[in-house]
Amino acid sequence: MVMDKLGNSLQDALKKLVKSGRIDERTVNEVVKDIQRALLQSDVNVKLVMQMSQHIKERALKEEVPSGMNPREHVIRIVYQELISIIGKSTDIPLKPQTIMMIGLQGSGKTTTTSKLARYFQRKGLKPGVVCADTFRPGAYQQLKTLCTKLNVAFYGEEGNPDAVGIVERGLKELQKNDILIVDTAGRHSLESDLITEMEDIHAVAKPDYKLLVLDGAIGQQASEQARAFNDSIGISGVVISKLDGTAKGGGALSAVSETNSSIAFIGVGETPDDLERFEPDRFISRLLGMGDIKSLIEKAEEALGEEDFDMEAMLRGRFTLKDMYKQLESLNKMGPMKQIMQMLPLGGLGAKIPEDAYQVTGDKLGRYRVLMDSMTEEEMLNPRIIGSARIKRIARGSGCGPDDVRELLKYHKMMQTAMKGFRGGKFNMQKMMKKM
Ligand code: GDP
Repeated sequence: MVMDKLGNSLQDALKKLVKSGRIDERTVNEVVKDIQRALLQSDVNVKLVMQMSQHIKERALKEEVPSGMNPREHVIRIVYQELISIIGKSTDIPLKPQTIMMIGLQGSGKTTTTSKLARYFQRKGLKPGVVCADTFRPGAYQQLKTLCTKLNVAFYGEEGNPDAVGIVERGLKELQKNDILIVDTAGRHSLESDLITEMEDIHAVAKPDYKLLVLDGAIGQQASEQARAFNDSIGISGVVISKLDGTAKGGGALSAVSETNSSIAFIGVGETPDDLERFEPDRFISRLLGMGDIKSLIEKAEEALGEEDFDMEAMLRGRFTLKDMYKQLESLNKMGPMKQIMQMLPLGGLGAKIPEDAYQVTGDKLGRYRVLMDSMTEEEMLNPRIIGSARIKRIARGSGCGPDDVRELLKYHKMMQTAMKGFRGGKFNMQKMMKKM
């Protein structure tokens, strides 16, 4: 998943802090050392890491603990704020009619991102149209056309015609009835002069409101160099960092971009059209630190479920019967992969750890769970603890499944219940912590 490694290391560092008895200089130094190691492994610039470490140390020991916070929370808050400050701000992307020009080197993920972006606006209720001006890379036309067709997004391209500027001119005219016009341009292996000339020519014709540069997340700190070079040629409005799901070096690109005069608009977190996320530093960091991202979760739920009611409160409250679990699994299943959703909850962080197999609840399994639960009594659904071995056999027979299936369901429920509890209560309540921030 997205920046798993960095997230886990940072969370481990904070866990140490939570567990330590006293917050003194030694504790702070230790935590800072762990954070340094995590950031450096993720390819964040050494100078930046050292600066940040210094800030954390100074602030943690000198700043007064705000009222209502204990010293541990005070330090966690400082770490949170300092991490946000090294990745800078997010590019503002208004939801209104506009033309967006996509630029970047070949292989950066530009074409994939173009379709993801169309999908993003589509989900927000706008009508996107896509022009393929990548006349350089063989296959780009077909790739983009196929992606757009699948998404039901208007597409314009001229296969085989090398005249990118002419295509843009005609394409924008043809698609003018759409709200958002996205122009995918050609890349090269490096920022060569013919690429710059072509970008400038297209730029002059398309007159884009936004120029989004796509950078491969795996390039780490080199991101700043590339962002600077593109910015010096036609200027960029914002950056999309792609492939953050597949690299351990993502911290490099994320922190490097803010060093240039630009900011990050989106991040690419997978290969499907839905794997594009708006980049918002505070949400991003809270997720990384395991503090959850309740805001994104609710938005995702609303997008997925439309008008249907979604009881997020129940999800977070922790009264957790089998019935609740089923309802939640059903809703979550509509929202996308379980793992992505769970990462937005403050469970995986300083609360309870979710075992890997908890994410593997597929549609098939959900169907089986339903059949099993249909064979249970109301009382059993509300209080699964009363289900003994005789009832397990009975339920299995009644549903045409095996006793192991019943046990699996019960085990799963227990695991989720424990996770919910860990997140709700305990000595350290991360959600309460987030509210304080
Ligand atoms: P272009 O040459 O810049 O247009 O690059 P493409 O859009 O064709 O992308 C190059 C490769 O990167 C393709 O195999 C994409 O599926 C893959 N890719 C793009 N974005 C992402 C991402 O966010 N995550 C992952 N895992 N792969 C991506």
